[in-house]
Amino acid sequence: MANERTFSILKPDATRRNITGAVNAVIEAAGLRIVAQRRIRMTREQAEKFYEVHKERPFFGELVEFMTSGPVVVQVLEGENAVAKYREVMGATNPAQAADGTIRKQFAESVGENTVHGSDSADNAKIEIAQFFTDADIAA
Ligand code: GDP
Repeated sequence: MANERTFSILKPDATRRNITGAVNAVIEAAGLRIVAQRRIRMTREQAEKFYEVHKERPFFGELVEFMTSGPVVVQVLEGENAVAKYREVMGATNPAQAADGTIRKQFAESVGENTVHGSDSADNAKIEIAQFFTDADIAA
């Protein structure tokens, strides 16, 4: 698999606990390069659009509340097989099920407040990156 990009979010539980640098260290140690990064406050509209696929899920309201509850860091990560690699480094959605050494095992507080987002496919990565970054924002 060639060099690839994925979209990442360090969620409000990470900014609140001041552990964005610690999470970035795990990302970089895994061989992923942070080629764009911006700290923002997500609007309700942005969060609802971003998580639109989960609109019918019972936790949708809670998820939008959480994602707008504090600053987040949006990122573009680049590397060999970046989409799958970052999913592996993140660990399972529920930290109780996440493997040792993963970000969620080390840092996540619950299934909802689970520290990081990572795209689940290369196609979704393109869509998600385009929601927050232009080509000019990315320095690879
Ligand atoms: P991911 O791809 O591993 O992030 O997981 P999903 O796509 O299934 O879910 C998206 C996000 O919704 C997760 O990362 C959680 O922040 C949140 N989420 C998923 N399941 C639950 C749940 O049962 N309760 C709550 N409150 N949030 C959830």
